[in-house]
Amino acid sequence: MKIVFTREKITEHIWRIFGLGDTCMYYVEGKQRGLLIDTAYGIGDLRTYIEKTFLQPYEVLLTHGHWDHANGAGQWDRVYLHRKDRELYRSFTDISFRRDRLRKTVKDIDTCPEELFVKDFEGDFSDLEEGMRFRLGDVTAEVIETPGHTQGIVSLLVEEDRTLLLGDACGEFTFMFREEASAIATYQRTLKKILDQKDRYDRILRQHGSYGSPLSLIKENMELCHEILEKRDDHIPWNYMGQPVYVAKKIDPDTHRRADGKSGNIVYSMNKLHKETI
Ligand SMILES: [Zn+2]
Repeated sequence: MKIVFTREKITEHIWRIFGLGDTCMYYVEGKQRGLLIDTAYGIGDLRTYIEKTFLQPYEVLLTHGHWDHANGAGQWDRVYLHRKDRELYRSFTDISFRRDRLRKTVKDIDTCPEELFVKDFEGDFSDLEEGMRFRLGDVTAEVIETPGHTQGIVSLLVEEDRTLLLGDACGEFTFMFREEASAIATYQRTLKKILDQKDRYDRILRQHGSYGSPLSLIKENMELCHEILEKRDDHIPWNYMGQPVYVAKKIDPDTHRRADGKSGNIVYSMNKLHKETI
């Protein structure tokens, strides 16, 4: 099996990068430096691809610790990851687990030899904090802490391109039921914080599915948080690998998109309705 990386230009400075599997990565290319955002499942030589393609110094940042975003980190010595997600990253590096998660989108994943899987990260993670700015020359990426999907997840505002890279922080089928997810009330505050900055972006990008959404996505997810907390949502039972969870709004079963044509949706477990902020 040969692992091929491809890219497509999205804005003046932002490239979307694909490797094996469904989760994309982004690269912000400044005049002086670059910023690689996420490393996907960690299969194949992403580092060589980035260095041969962009020919400039760059930093590596992980939006959060999930297996499909963080497992390529082991190719570098210095990687930015919020301290609240480091343990999470360590829990999901196992190769058989990664194979299993890829099986849905990569049918022949079992033919992929073990040596193509990037090993665990052995360097020191660097901290990510609210308001940190990566100055790349003619473009700047600012860190916004967006807890919800995980405790340490961050989004990046690429200022000059007026683009918000949300990672998995807000989606069309936002997973809010795993142990590492925050309470819905915490997530609601995150979405309000992002909405309060709406004058700074015209475009939002994500890393799954259609990879982009209308700006209304954020407000729709915030409204759903209200509905879930007040038990006014559609509350559709759904089974995620044996875990009983609920989908906030009715979906088309084939596409997993909202039946009413809107974009935002949240999949949650009942224990996330507790008020605590983790
Ligand atoms: Zn995730």
